[in-house]
Formats: sequence, structure tokens, C-alpha cells
Amino acid sequence: MGKQMEFCLGRPIQGGVAIGRIRVFQRREDQIRRRDIQDTQAEIARVEMAREEASRQLDALYRETCESAGRAQASIFLAHKMLLEDEAYLESIYGMIRKERVNAEYAVTVSGILFSDTFAAMEDARMRARSADVRDVSGRLVRLMEGAKEEPLKAGPPAILLAEDLSPSETVRLKTEGLLALVLQKGAAGSHTAILARALDIPALVQTEIKPPLARYDGMLAVVDAQSGRLILEPDKELLSQMEEKKRRLEREREDLRFWIGKENVSAGGRRMEILANIGSLEELGQAVENDAGGIGLMRTEFLFLGRDTYPAEEEQVAAYREAIGSMPGKPVIIRTLDLGADKQESYLGLPREENPAMGCRAIRLCFQRQEMFRTQLRAICRAAAQGSCSILLPLIVSVEEIRLVRQLLAEVGAELQKRAIPYAIPSVGAMIETPAAALISAELAREVDFFSIGTNDLAQYTLAADRQNPGLEGMYSRSHPAVWRLIQMTVENGHKAGIPVSICGELASDPGLVRTFLDLGVDALSVVPASVLPLRRALWSA
Ligand code: PEP
Ligand code: MG
Repeated sequence: MGKQMEFCLGRPIQGGVAIGRIRVFQRREDQIRRRDIQDTQAEIARVEMAREEASRQLDALYRETCESAGRAQASIFLAHKMLLEDEAYLESIYGMIRKERVNAEYAVTVSGILFSDTFAAMEDARMRARSADVRDVSGRLVRLMEGAKEEPLKAGPPAILLAEDLSPSETVRLKTEGLLALVLQKGAAGSHTAILARALDIPALVQTEIKPPLARYDGMLAVVDAQSGRLILEPDKELLSQMEEKKRRLEREREDLRFWIGKENVSAGGRRMEILANIGSLEELGQAVENDAGGIGLMRTEFLFLGRDTYPAEEEQVAAYREAIGSMPGKPVIIRTLDLGADKQESYLGLPREENPAMGCRAIRLCFQRQEMFRTQLRAICRAAAQGSCSILLPLIVSVEEIRLVRQLLAEVGAELQKRAIPYAIPSVGAMIETPAAALISAELAREVDFFSIGTNDLAQYTLAADRQNPGLEGMYSRSHPAVWRLIQMTVENGHKAGIPVSICGELASDPGLVRTFLDLGVDALSVVPASVLPLRRALWSA
């Protein structure tokens, strides 16, 4: 009997058509299998060996992090070490192995989940924060027992990746080679995960109506038609050939876009508006060059901090910033300082659990709290700036004092580098206008900075009180709300009165249908995912 064709609707966040087999991504924890074992002592000995090695690893992480980010940040690893000694946790693991005669990986994973859930339900915020720590420690023990390294998420042979959801930190680990398309059962179009997925420049759907368990889709032949927002499972011959034709047509259209490479960014009426690229990885830097971007308008530096176990060293950061500057000779490179927190979490960062993380200690606020981490990043940018010019962009600004503090820190970092005879340059400084507060005081802010970049993703979220992560609010999280437009207009006017340029780097900028409006508002530049650069240039020419 032939397999039944199935259609699932999804919300496209990046267009295109892909045809291939599905590969289901499941979190490591979900992949641990229960096995019956005979020799309980041997299993306990495996846990013991993993504990010893984990303890050595955590000591090393503590030392490295003390150097790169300071003792306060490193203390997370001491907390993890303490968990390795926690009697109740160990008793749970050993008890399960002895009583249920199960393999060590399973006992560690299940105990980790039990303890983590218990912590998560506690009143005390500090206790709740330990929930992620237990899972982290359990994961480390299991990896050691399996002899596995922290693996990037692989799609293996060319495949359509299907997942319930991905966090930003999982998305940056995605191995894009061989990834044909991305389909998420959950996910919101305005989330950072969606932005990262969009930048992969492959067809992508979120909120796809697939029925669990996901595992049943593994290996199925599928078509992702992100033009019409459909995932088609086991397509019949006729549909498959239609889709192949559609895919070829889209590829031809893409090829035609190359005509715009090397062309000026000017409108039909002769007005210039720069078109730059947003990047969230060094791979995307390559795409920005390929798509002839006029520079990097937003380098989301979080990618250097996510998908790993410890802070990146200063040298690693310098190398990444230099690569961006070196790839864009004579063009602007705008490096945004760390925008961690809210949905951008990694357990080594030890970020406290907050009731309202989007309005919590994220972005520049976190940087001010973690001065070692921030100074290290500023130092790395100043060192890279000695090689070619670049600018700094500050996220989530709400006051002029924040800008002044950054300028003071930059001066201190510069003096320190000078003393050590290390070449450096102080970059120009811009503010992201992504809070209503920043837009409303843009006249005052404009006197303190060298440029503005409007982050419409957060600006819309905070203006409309509509969580960008919440799929149920997407109707509200609207591009056409007059309140958001009014704040954009106010920012452009105030920026220009003070003689500084104003660009837009939120997702709104990538809509070719809005180019005319941006021109009328007097926006100086747009910064978008690399794949949107040429379509925008084409739209600009006829605007
Ligand atoms: C924005 O908020 O519009 C923005 C560009 O920043 P991010 O999407 O990284 O929060
Ligand atoms: Mg933002």
C-alpha cells in the first residue's frame, strides 16, 4: 500500500521550496534510552569516573572564566562542582541503578530532570535558578560517560530538520551544511530563533501543525513549500513534480537577482539609501560579501557566547571582529555589544531566572553588571578597530547616562591598552533605538552618539506590550501600527537635526514593499539579513 500524502500548515519565516527526507532533532536528554543492566557496581563505577573527570573540567572552566570574565561569573562552576557532591542527587542516581537495575546514563538523566523540576517549582528565586544547573551537570556526566564531545547539531546527509522548537543557543550550534529546510512545531516569527533561522537562508516554517510524536516523521520524504506555508509529507508523484518545477523557478529567480550585484543603492529619483547586512555568525559574513552588502549594519555578537561551555577569550573575539572588518574593506562594520539575557541564555552564564526576562537584566544592563565581561568585549573591539574602522552599537538603551558610562569605559580600556603598548582605536558609538524611552529622548541621545540604529523588533514589542516570542500575539505585533511608525519618524527627525545618520536594523527593514516609506521618512540606511540585500536594492531602484 502506498504511503498517505499529508499536508500540515505552517507559518513561513523564510521563503523557498525544499524537497528531501526529514530528520527529527531531539534534545540529547530525550535520546537517552533505558537499558536493563546486571552489574550495578560497574554502572556506579562509571558514574564515579565521570564525576571525577567532570570535577577536573569544572576546575579548568573556573580558572579560565576567572581570567576572562572575573570571579563572580566563574562561581557558577563552583556551584556545579557542589552539585557533583550533593548527597541527595547522588543518592537518587545510585538508588535508581541499584533498585531498578538501569544504566548509568538513564539514572543520571532522570535524576537530573527530577531535581531540576523540584528546583523550578520553588518559591525562592535563587533556588529556582539551580534548576538549569542540575540539568547542566547531568548533561556533562552523561556526555563523559558516552565519551561524547559537545556536538554541533547536525542535519547529517542533506535533510529537512524538524524540531519541536530550538533555543537561540541550539540554533547557533546548527550545522548548516546539508540543511535543506527548517520546520518547527512551535516558535514565533519575531523570536531570535526565527531571526537566526531566517539568516540561514533556507526555507523555514514555524508553528507547523504537526502531530506528535515527532519521531514518527523521521526519514519521511517531504516538501517544505515555504512560499505557501505548507509541509507536505509523502507527496505523490504529481505533486512532487509540480514542486520540483516550483523549486527550479525560484532558483532561476534567485539567480536573476545576481544582476543587482555591483549596482548602486539609489532610488529611481536618485536618492541614496545604503543597504547593509545583519549577521549573527561568521558564516553569514560570507553571505553578506556574496550578496554585495554595503557593509555590516548589525553584527550580533551573541553568537560568540552561545552554544558553548565558557566565555570566549579576548583573542577569540578580536579574531572574529577582525575577520568582519577585513571582509568589508572600506565599508562600515557595526559591532553590537552583547545582547544576552531574555531568550539568549547559556548555562555557564548563570543568568538568574526572572519573572519578566524581556524587561529584565538583559543587553547593556547585563553588561554593566558584568563589567569584566563587558570590558573584555570593548577591549577586543578596540584592538580590532586598530586594523580598520568599525563602530560600536549599544543595545536596549534607555538613558543618556548609559552612553556616558560606555564612553567612560571605552576611555579606560583605551588607556589600559595604551599602557600595555597594544595597538587600538576607539570606535564611533551608536545607540540602538529599540525602546519607546530611547525614541522619546532621541533628541538628547543624538547629542551623545555618532549614529542611531532603530531595532524595530524590540521597539514594536515594547511599544505594543506584545511579547515577540508569543505566537498568539503575532497579529498585534504588527508592522503597520501607527505608534511604532511615529516613534521611527521621531527618531529620524531628531537624529537628522543633530546631524547624525539613522538606520533601521529590525526585521521591518527587509520588506521591499516599505522601501518607498523609508525613503519618504529620510532613513539613511537599512540593515537586513544577507539574502534580503539584493531584493531590497531591486525595490529601491523602482521606488
Ligand atoms: C531589534 O530588536 O530590532 C534588533 C535588531 O535586535 P534583536 O532582534 O537582535 O533583538
Ligand atoms: Mg533588539
